[in-house]
Amino acid sequence: MTSPDVDETLRTLQRVFGYDAFRGEQQEVIDHVVNGGDALVLMPTGGGKSLCYQIPALVRPGTGVVISPLIALMQDQVDALQALGVRAGFLNSTQDLDERRVMEARFAAGELDLLYLAPERLRVPATAALLDRAKISLFAIDEAHCVSQWGHDFRPDYLMLSGLHERWPEVPRIALTATATPATREEIATRLNLTGARHFVASFDRPNIQYRIEPKTDAKRQLLQLLRTEHEGDAGIVYCLSRSSVEKHAQFLSDNGIEAVPYHAGLDARVRAENQSRFLREDGLVVVATIAFGMGIDKPDVRFVAHLDLPKSVEGYYQETGRAGRDGLPSTAWLAYGLNDVVSLRKMIDGSEGDADHRRRLSQHLDSMLALCETVECRRVQLLNYFGQDAAPCGNCDTCLTPPETWDGTVPAQKALSTVVRLKRERRQQFGAGHIIDILRGKKNAKIIQFDHDALSTFGIGADLSDAEWRGVIRQLLAQGLVAVESNYGSLVETEASAGVLRGERKVMMRRESERTRAAAAKTRT
Ligand code: ADP
Ligand code: ZN
Repeated sequence: MTSPDVDETLRTLQRVFGYDAFRGEQQEVIDHVVNGGDALVLMPTGGGKSLCYQIPALVRPGTGVVISPLIALMQDQVDALQALGVRAGFLNSTQDLDERRVMEARFAAGELDLLYLAPERLRVPATAALLDRAKISLFAIDEAHCVSQWGHDFRPDYLMLSGLHERWPEVPRIALTATATPATREEIATRLNLTGARHFVASFDRPNIQYRIEPKTDAKRQLLQLLRTEHEGDAGIVYCLSRSSVEKHAQFLSDNGIEAVPYHAGLDARVRAENQSRFLREDGLVVVATIAFGMGIDKPDVRFVAHLDLPKSVEGYYQETGRAGRDGLPSTAWLAYGLNDVVSLRKMIDGSEGDADHRRRLSQHLDSMLALCETVECRRVQLLNYFGQDAAPCGNCDTCLTPPETWDGTVPAQKALSTVVRLKRERRQQFGAGHIIDILRGKKNAKIIQFDHDALSTFGIGADLSDAEWRGVIRQLLAQGLVAVESNYGSLVETEASAGVLRGERKVMMRRESERTRAAAAKTRT
């Protein structure tokens, strides 16, 4: 079915943006909004969300107002649009009063096709008065998941966006996000007053990305191995949690002949901008970065994304890995995680600001991430299910390529848990995983002797497993919620679920992680 609108939208796509055809659901979304409908659009990163509001803004009379939290990107976005001949501008806190005045005047004179607005602008009553001064073609709410208090990226200013509809009932609204579980999608619709909006949900599958998650043994060596054997000369991103870890690993790669630059918020702004633009411009550069890197980075040929630390949520993991392979060519999403990651993230959650509810949410996010790490099923199926989408085993993830062996870890679990329970009376000390393992393996070190722990009945009952194997066991117990990290002293403690294991009512299945199975996994990949 072609209407005059369809012709006009396609002409705009070709004339202004220089593309031949719409992708995926773009055409449907655009037609719906051009005709005045409200829309909620879920498309993975790189799916082409921007055109979904830019083209209707150009086709409909008036200015399209785009609410975006990504203030740092506004200048670039506006520059790019202006280069295409689109009359675009922005209003945010980086501007001085004069710059704002000029922009406000241009808007009021109807000289803009698109106006990007930082959400905190809406806090100022003058903003609403300004918006009343010209015709608005649509409201686009970018990164709409920021309105969700359950999400990983809540921005209180987004709650004010529910008022748009009351004040400008005739203006269509389009909310866009690259990440939302079905529950979050409902929450977005409710909070933004978008209950009548049509939902457009693209598939979240990124078939060209191979997902791999492995236990961290020696992160540096593992990373080097990945880059040397599979990604020689490729551009990629290595994510680390802390700034110091970023610096350390960038140096390590450079020392080993791999061109790498660091990126984190603590670097001088000039250095940061230079490293980012080198990454975009040059071939085969590796950026070692905190998650501050990547928002709005549109580099098509990122061949790998490596995580050296556990992401805090599946949403974060999906977003970060999604920066690989936007050109559709085979790419790797690789993550190494270990016992320490789980312990330190748990501690970070316990020590975080905010109320108990907030901590519970963070904890749920981490649990979902751990479930993805420890799954013996297809990673892609798990990932897509998390976002409410069905899928069949993919054949392009580590668990599909090398189905993990499982083993009955009930007895080691019981040994570890009985040790944990026996230390209960002394909880005003820190008895972390290392100490528990020393007891199990029967090591008479200073701390053991100081606390008489060689007298415990579990002392030495775990000599059959190595340190590394015990760490794997405890990590999996943490992931399965069978032990927890106590918040004040950081000791390992039992959970409600542990009792069933101790009484022998519950079996504990674990992934086998011997060198042998890992070597086999590496072989099938090449
Ligand atoms: P998102 O916001 O969903 O992450 P963008 O809107 O930034 O994605 O689009 C990602 C890339 O795809 C951009 O480089 C954009 O120009 C390009 N793109 C979008 N739609 C089309 C299309 N119909 N044809 C060709 N390229 C497109
Ligand atoms: Zn799979």
